Amino acid sequence: MTLGRRAFATDEIQPGIHIRRGVDEDATAQNEDGIANIGFIMGRDAVAVIDPGGSLIDGERLRMTIRQVTQLPIKYVVMTHVHPDHVFGAPAFEKDHPQFVGHARLPRALALRETFYRERLERTLGKGNAGGAVRPTLLVQGHAEIDLGDRILALTAHGTAHTDCDLSVLDRKTGTLLPADLLFVQRVPSLDGSLRGWLQQLEQLKSVSARRAVPGHGPTSVDWPSGAADLERYLGILLRETKEAITKGLDLQAAVDKVAVSERSRWKLFDDYNGHNVTQAYKELEWEQ
Ligand SMILES: [Zn+2]
Repeated sequence: MTLGRRAFATDEIQPGIHIRRGVDEDATAQNEDGIANIGFIMGRDAVAVIDPGGSLIDGERLRMTIRQVTQLPIKYVVMTHVHPDHVFGAPAFEKDHPQFVGHARLPRALALRETFYRERLERTLGKGNAGGAVRPTLLVQGHAEIDLGDRILALTAHGTAHTDCDLSVLDRKTGTLLPADLLFVQRVPSLDGSLRGWLQQLEQLKSVSARRAVPGHGPTSVDWPSGAADLERYLGILLRETKEAITKGLDLQAAVDKVAVSERSRWKLFDDYNGHNVTQAYKELEWEQ
């Protein structure tokens, strides 16, 4: 495979906020792991990338897309969490010498997972195309701000939720929240952190003064906080029914077969992730009895 040196289409969901919609699939050679919503925000003086893409190819394409729109320097590459579909395009931006921004726990998560993720993606895309992790140069603990020139982005490092290193971005200028994979819409969520933690973080995010949000997967923009309703319902059912299964003494496999099946028709890729989510929830909740 050769590097796909083509820009891609983005939606300018608000002035200066450009988002590429990821496809609702798992990584394949055809989609180049362009499965997450990624994009960039332009200020007066600089550009921030918010998630550099799912592979080196995806990152290169994002960079080309940015360069078709602006020649402003790319000063920040925000990596919202450890999952490769969001961050493996980071090496495409090393030549810009940006600050690579991440949650304070991101370096540890990358150290534990990068080799596994890279080898798996190389099998799909071919060596040299997968990209990989870039060490963050700017770590966020609690809250931080970055200034793009007449445009402040507020960053929040969250407690364990979708993963243990979720970082969200709020563009105060337009009231646009970019919670990355703390928000799934239409595509079934994947739980890789804490179910109770995710529900807590979602509750906090709902009180953020934003009018719209950019899901990590799904449409490029949804109303906020109403756009969180389906995710909240699914996570609530996952919590309630997994607890019930444990209380009734169901073993893990019986729980996997039963929990949240009422949600099946409401989500894309449900069968690919729900069983894994139930397994995660079961392990988290079984010690609470
Ligand atoms: Zn994720």
